[in-house]
Amino acid sequence: MRCLLCSNWSITEHICKSCQKEFLTPKIERQIFYKDIELISFYSYKEIEQLLKLKHTHLGFYVFSLLSQLTFKEFAKNFTTDTIFTSIAVDDSVKSGYSHTAILNRALKSRSIAPCYNVLKQKSDLQYSKHDLAWRKMHPRDFFLKECNKKKIILVDDIKTTGITLKASIDLLLKSKKEVQFILVLADASRV
Ligand SMILES: [Zn+2]
Repeated sequence: MRCLLCSNWSITEHICKSCQKEFLTPKIERQIFYKDIELISFYSYKEIEQLLKLKHTHLGFYVFSLLSQLTFKEFAKNFTTDTIFTSIAVDDSVKSGYSHTAILNRALKSRSIAPCYNVLKQKSDLQYSKHDLAWRKMHPRDFFLKECNKKKIILVDDIKTTGITLKASIDLLLKSKKEVQFILVLADASRV
């Protein structure tokens, strides 16, 4: 098959090893995002825009699996705490045959992090990714929290654009007496 980024032939991968190294080596950036909670991102949106656009195609599963290994999995390997944190993803319902946020969340499974699935769900089934920013600002997502008795939460999402979704998720978690330790996103659109 041809590498998605350089078009060279690769026997086993849709993105060849040298492109992975050159274009997909993550740079972790941390910022205080909301209510003193830190947001940690691995890429700027622009850096991986071309790949993120494949999200709803047959290559989406491959792309997200690869990116999750390069970022979330590495992060979890180096992350150690005395207590176990629970990671939950923003709206990990299955769309286009897989859930991209569940893939990221699963990659966090480690000594200190236990992923939990289908906890933070969207009430309506509006397709946000199909609309532009103006529309999304007019229609903030409405979430509900499923039964979850864990307290120390890591919030997971794929892309931070306006931050509205993450803020709504944090508000809901805090209201439900959870402690949000930090947020992990693959790509942050506010990064340069
Ligand atoms: Zn390549």
